[in-house]
Amino acid sequence: MEIAGATLFVLLGLTLASAIWIVSQSFASEALPATQPNCPYCPGVFPALAWAPLIGASSRCTNCRRTLGRGRWVYELAMGAAFAVAVFRMDSAGALAEFALFAAVLSIVMLTDFWSGTVYRNLVAGGIVIGLVAALLRGWDPFVESFQGMLAGLVIFGVGMLVLRKILPVMQLAPIGGGDVLIAGMIGAMARWPGTLFAFFAGVALAAAGAAVVLYLQRSTRIEPQPFGPFLCAAAIGVFALTF
Ligand SMILES: [Zn+2]
Repeated sequence: MEIAGATLFVLLGLTLASAIWIVSQSFASEALPATQPNCPYCPGVFPALAWAPLIGASSRCTNCRRTLGRGRWVYELAMGAAFAVAVFRMDSAGALAEFALFAAVLSIVMLTDFWSGTVYRNLVAGGIVIGLVAALLRGWDPFVESFQGMLAGLVIFGVGMLVLRKILPVMQLAPIGGGDVLIAGMIGAMARWPGTLFAFFAGVALAAAGAAVVLYLQRSTRIEPQPFGPFLCAAAIGVFALTF
């Protein structure tokens, strides 16, 4: 793709990222997204500029003067990088549209799960439907592969959840919950069989690495359960950018 189109696509990624950050933060605090986003730290609000890509990350709460948090920079730049890799690799508009749509859904699930510790099941069910419909638009064979990927996710992580529950509390790290099984089904439907397996492998590896970092930072003997879903979603966005 030519430079102008590629730049536009990366800009779309950055714009999506800043909007998704604010929308997910409202969902996680069970509020509707507002033009002037609510401050997560105090009853104040942020200026509407907070919605803008890149510069919005440095806008401050009109009351307590705090920013949206460093995580917003990290997430926004990571999404920009993923969109850049995607536009560099993919030459079909269909693949790019699929990537942008899937990355947006995965991001909302990732951020709301990370902040609230809950998986919004309606949202993930919607993600499964989006994965299946996107595949159907490509034809019958991709649809079958998408369905197989979804089944693989539900079965592999469903069995994993039951096994982990058996050996708990010996292994309290990253226990898989029912929400994570649904997330795996969603990623499977988006990745399509057999790409599904690679997306899961990357997700489990990222979760293990993340848990190791958290353990190192906590330096405590008591292991807190780590949320598993956000790692699966983050890894899937990276894998989709590299393989679609
Ligand atoms: Zn504030």
